Amino acid sequence: MQARPHRQPAVLQNSVVVFSKNYLPLARINIKRAIVLLISGQAESLEIGNTTMWEVRSPSVVLQVPEHIRLTVSNPERLWKVPPVNRREVLRRDGHTCQYCGSTRNLTIDHVIPRSKGGQHSWDNVVAACERCNSLKGDRLPHEAGMVPKTKPKAPAHPAVAFAEQFWKAQHGED
Ligand SMILES: [Zn+2]
Repeated sequence: MQARPHRQPAVLQNSVVVFSKNYLPLARINIKRAIVLLISGQAESLEIGNTTMWEVRSPSVVLQVPEHIRLTVSNPERLWKVPPVNRREVLRRDGHTCQYCGSTRNLTIDHVIPRSKGGQHSWDNVVAACERCNSLKGDRLPHEAGMVPKTKPKAPAHPAVAFAEQFWKAQHGED
């Protein structure tokens, strides 16, 4: 008899949503990472509604892996801090798009209320702006220049919070 080539079972292509200890959905991870977390006791099954279970077999064990797991160890969300206000982080928050004209080229940081008029270098007063819009607006207030950013600037959301919003929206959509 000839041995069959060992193929990765389809079940290992699934992904699992991992929740924090405080039931905040954090991220979608590969089922293999989820198995490691479950086996090492760093996570447990979490059942929400009709949770799908996948059966993963190894020569010695059969493991039921749910599509949602919850970390039993403490909170990775604590490790995240609001990033500093700098060009790289501001452009990332604003999707590398000028908040005045939508251009994605020659981007700079614009202070919505100019610093010369008391505007702060803070998350709620900076937006990505192309060089052209930035110099067009110059030292004027938004209403003076007739240039108002497309989105009201604010500190970027915690990545897990952003994920959570998306996750619950998707869950809701499935109902
Ligand atoms: Zn622009």
